[in-house]
Amino acid sequence: MSNSDYASQKLTAVMRRIKHASERSGRACDAVKLIGASKKQSIELITRFVEQGLTDLGENYLQEAIDKQCQSPSLEVDWHFIGQIQSNKTKAIAKHFNWVHGVDRLKIAKRLSQHVAEFNANLDDEHEYKPPINLLVQLNPDNERTKGGIALGDAPELCRRISELENVALRGFMMIPQARENEDEQRKVFASAAKLLEQINQAQGIHLDHLSMGMSGDLEAAIAEGSTMVRIGTDLFGARS
Ligand SMILES: *Cc1c(COP(=O)(O)O)cnc(C)c1O
Repeated sequence: MSNSDYASQKLTAVMRRIKHASERSGRACDAVKLIGASKKQSIELITRFVEQGLTDLGENYLQEAIDKQCQSPSLEVDWHFIGQIQSNKTKAIAKHFNWVHGVDRLKIAKRLSQHVAEFNANLDDEHEYKPPINLLVQLNPDNERTKGGIALGDAPELCRRISELENVALRGFMMIPQARENEDEQRKVFASAAKLLEQINQAQGIHLDHLSMGMSGDLEAAIAEGSTMVRIGTDLFGARS
């Protein structure tokens, strides 16, 4: 099978899962965006998926992502940074991505805000104007040390502080919960993020509109609880090299 046929089949299969899960929970079929989690996948393969209609790519490793962008500058996609963020990398992240999913410190959001302001103050060409970067605060519902993110109880304050910054647009939450024993339990953890988002919107009068949750193994449970972005690696591209 050619890489194009492979990409077409895999993309169709994942889109069908998203559609079924959306329908089952009475949500519009375009309410959930598919992000291809493309770490460790070749730019050749990724390009075939984009040709078949994939519009968003999520990368974990900054240098790997920059290499891919350089190899394929004409790839028209939205780039999402979904890895752990080191504060000394924020400038390059601001330059190369439209979405940053793993924000868990005010310092990171402040730096990203500042970098966008600096880019826009030094433009040679106004077409290069950089719009605000979309941020998602990462939640860590299982309190795992190996993962980034904050406790749910700390989210209201961090959101409040970030939403005061210019040049960044706080959009919602991202999380990577542990696998639960069954789908009901899996849904509960996703539901807790959705509920928190509602509460913060009401209490703070802001409009967070995205939940980045759901991966290959749990996208159905995430969509049932209101996910708006699923990040799919293995079930889309295949095993990572
Ligand atoms: C790798 C990765 C994914 C995709 O995981 P799969 O299980 O391969 O679908 C999603 N989100 C993040 C943050 C990842 O690092």
